[in-house]
Amino acid sequence: MDCKLCGTRNLPLFYTQGDRRQYHFFRCPRCRLVVYDASAGVSQEKYVLHAVDPEADTRQNRGHRQTYAFIRRHARPPGRMLDLGCGDGTVLWLARADGWEVEGVELFPEHAAMVQRTHGFPVTASDIAAYYGTPGGWDVVVLTHVLEHLPDPVGALVKIRGLLKPGGVGVLEFPNIDALDARVRRFLDRTGMHRHRYAPTYKPGHVQEFCRASFAFACARAGLELLVWETYAVNPLKYALYRRWWIGNKARVLVRS
Ligand SMILES: [Zn+2]
Repeated sequence: MDCKLCGTRNLPLFYTQGDRRQYHFFRCPRCRLVVYDASAGVSQEKYVLHAVDPEADTRQNRGHRQTYAFIRRHARPPGRMLDLGCGDGTVLWLARADGWEVEGVELFPEHAAMVQRTHGFPVTASDIAAYYGTPGGWDVVVLTHVLEHLPDPVGALVKIRGLLKPGGVGVLEFPNIDALDARVRRFLDRTGMHRHRYAPTYKPGHVQEFCRASFAFACARAGLELLVWETYAVNPLKYALYRRWWIGNKARVLVRS
């Protein structure tokens, strides 16, 4: 297994998943990227997307409000915001209510149509890799919980750079492989103290996992500057802690071209 970020050959095994330890994750000693050997299979399960009430007090909406509050700390309307993989559209709904002109992209046509119908802003049905949109047209480009699924993460970052206006910012969220709970889980597994049980149908869904170092490396390769790195949880107390101590299992970042 070679590193898709820096090209280092024959990466050492980092951890395994699956009841037969059949799913192998490797870690690059140079750039720190964790790469999954996808030849063992990737979960392609189609996710379910429902129309939601963006004003409802749900955990999911609290998460979306936290994402938008982060964006708002670093970029101010008026301006144009694009959400690549906009999900139920709640982040864009919040942004539009605050004065942004917004557009979304979603993979499946029925999801894109449903979000557009629900909220009334344009949503294009497209794979991120096949999306071209308006180059240099956006003040903010959002990519949340998508990067870890894409075969070419640097290509996605280059795409974000190309979509941004000069001075525009990218906001991304993805799992943090160096989170405290992930480290503890790997330690327990390695020492045989606790072994996770997997469903018989389990397959990994992520083709790579980032930490701060590997994400910074990917940004440099894509010509982006990493301005802010924090980790987070939806729970406000945990979030206050994880913003400063990067032990949370999800990362949120700000980049600029
Ligand atoms: Zn590497």
